[in-house]
Amino acid sequence: MLIGSHKIKIPFNVSSAFRIKFFKYSLITGLTCLSSILVNTVATAQSNSSPKIVATFLPIDLFTQAVVGDTGQVDILIAPGTEVHEYQATPDDAKTLASADVLVENGLGIEEFLAGLVTNAGNSQLQQIDSSKGITVIKEEEPGDDREEVNPHVWLDPVLAQQQVATIRDRLIAIDPTNADSYRTNAEAYIQQLKQLDGEFKQKLAPVKGCNFITFHDAFPYLARRYGLKQEAIVEIPEDSITPKDIQRVQQAANQYKVKALLTEPGIEDKRIQQISSDLNLPLEVIDPLESGETNPQYYFQVMRSNLAALERACK
Ligand SMILES: [Zn+2]
Repeated sequence: MLIGSHKIKIPFNVSSAFRIKFFKYSLITGLTCLSSILVNTVATAQSNSSPKIVATFLPIDLFTQAVVGDTGQVDILIAPGTEVHEYQATPDDAKTLASADVLVENGLGIEEFLAGLVTNAGNSQLQQIDSSKGITVIKEEEPGDDREEVNPHVWLDPVLAQQQVATIRDRLIAIDPTNADSYRTNAEAYIQQLKQLDGEFKQKLAPVKGCNFITFHDAFPYLARRYGLKQEAIVEIPEDSITPKDIQRVQQAANQYKVKALLTEPGIEDKRIQQISSDLNLPLEVIDPLESGETNPQYYFQVMRSNLAALERACK
């Protein structure tokens, strides 16, 4: 279920075949035009050149692709179907970064593997874009631990997603000013869609403000904060196994906060979730943290609308 389709890669020199044909034709038409054609060809080649961009995992790939559009190619480092939390980098990842110009990341500690990987790649020219820079984060205390940790799931708040897209846009413009107009136009269109999505969330969740829900992993506190809901999670990250303590905590939360529903995730087939749902008499819905799926920028809206519908059903 978690395995999404792989992205169709569109090379950014897609028009090169056309340019070669055009060039051949021009040679036949006469040498008098040659210099202007050469200038033209060079100019075209320059405007079509774009940096080699790598995005770490799904949501960042979607946002970066939305900004880059047809201007260039974005490669995803963590293939859909592989979990980002506790991801272990491979030698191939180091190779990918060694030849990349730009690396776009979510930040906030979710890509823990990056520090060592970037060093191993040994690419002193690599420009890193931290898409969550400037975002007001949610800090959480670890159960049984006094240390606070930053929750990284900012992409699941359609307003913070706009901020991430804008940051990617501004940094790409700074790195690659030749394509500034495309980045600006593409980002604006996507931000408009995110604004519309935010409007839908606001409108549809207003009647259920204050609703408490339980998710499988701790991915939705930003979304909950944005729309006046409250999220409790069974586990912190998807790799964690559910302990009796987790179940106890969830039961307590359910009693204390009048929890309305339990929201599991695609691909999570842990029978204890069904058990918690029936023990606590909580309806079971599916909500997708978008950590895996299809590498098409519009996929974000498809999943978020389905998440909105699940929240509406859960909270009514
Ligand atoms: Zn997560």
